[in-house]
Amino acid sequence: MAKDGIGDEFDLIARYFAPLAAGAPGALGLTDDAAIVDLAQGERLVAAADALVAGIHFLADDPPGDIAAKIVRVNLSDLAAMGARPVGMLMTAVFPRDVTADWLEAFAQGLKADIEAFASPLIGGDTVAGDGPLTLSLTALGAVPLDKVLTRSGAKAGDGIYVSGTVGDGALGLIAAGGGIAGLGAEARDYLIGRYRVPRPRLDLGIRLLDVGNAAIDVSDGLLADLGHICDCSGAGARIRVASIPLSAAARAAVSADSGLWPKILGGGDDYELLFTVPADRTGAVSDIAAALGLDLSRIGEVTAGEGIEVEDAQDFGLELLDPGYRHFR
Ligand SMILES: [Mg+2]
Repeated sequence: MAKDGIGDEFDLIARYFAPLAAGAPGALGLTDDAAIVDLAQGERLVAAADALVAGIHFLADDPPGDIAAKIVRVNLSDLAAMGARPVGMLMTAVFPRDVTADWLEAFAQGLKADIEAFASPLIGGDTVAGDGPLTLSLTALGAVPLDKVLTRSGAKAGDGIYVSGTVGDGALGLIAAGGGIAGLGAEARDYLIGRYRVPRPRLDLGIRLLDVGNAAIDVSDGLLADLGHICDCSGAGARIRVASIPLSAAARAAVSADSGLWPKILGGGDDYELLFTVPADRTGAVSDIAAALGLDLSRIGEVTAGEGIEVEDAQDFGLELLDPGYRHFR
C-alpha cells in the first residue's frame, strides 16, 4: 500500500480498521499477532468463513459501504443458520493497488455500521495489496449453548418446511442491476438491487430456532439447492408448493412482467433468508417467533420420507423446464 494518503499496511490498519476493534478488548487494538475471544460458561464456538470477489459476488462499482455490509452479512447469515450469536470477525482483504482513501473510508464506515448493528467486532485479519480484483474473506465467530445447535442434518419426515422473509429478491436484484427487467418500475428495481447488495442476516430468528427447529440453512445457493442440502444431510425428501413461496411486492411485479423469471425465484441465490424445518407439534412456536420478531415465516411444504424434492404445482408456473442442473427437482 503506497498510494498517496494511505501509507503502508500498518498505517492503513491503524487508520481504518483498528477503530473497528474498539468494542472487543480481546482484539488488543489489532496490534498483536492474534485475538483472544471470551466465551460464556457452557458455550461452544461456531466458525464460518466466506469470500467475495469483485465481478463475481458483487459488482466492482457497488457502493463501498454496501460491499462491506455484504461481506459481513453473508458470513453472519451462516452463523444465523446454526443458531449462533456473533462474537467477532476476522477479515482478510486484498485491495487493488489503486484503492483510494475515499473508498477505504466509505468501506470502513460500512463495516462500522454493521459491527455495531450486529454486535460483532472486528478482532483481526490482514490487508494486502494485489493486482487482481478486490477480494475479501471474512471469518465470523459465534457461540451456541453447549447442548444446542442447528444443523442441516436434523430434518425428519413430517416436519413443516418454512422460510423467512421473501425469496428470489437477491437473484432478481442481480438481474435488475445487470440490465434491468422489462416492465419493472424504478422503485421495485431499486428494492431488488438493494436486497442483492445488502442481505439481512436472520440472527435473532436462528437463536430462537435452537429450541424449535430440527434443521436449518441460509438460502445462498437458491431455495431448491439449499433445500436439497437439508434433504441430503438429513436423509429425507421434501415436497413444496410454488404458490406458497413468499414473494416481495417487487418480485411479484417482476414475475408478473416476465413469468420466465420463475426459475430464478426457486433456483437463484443470494437471499440469505433462513430455510428451516419444524416438527408438527411445534408449529405454534413458529407463529410466536414470527410475531415476536415482526418477521414473516412462511410454510412452503413438508419433509417427506422419500428422496429428492417434489414441486407440487411446478407446471402452474411454467417450471417444467427448470434447469436440470438442480438435480433435486422432480
Ligand atoms: Mg450458508
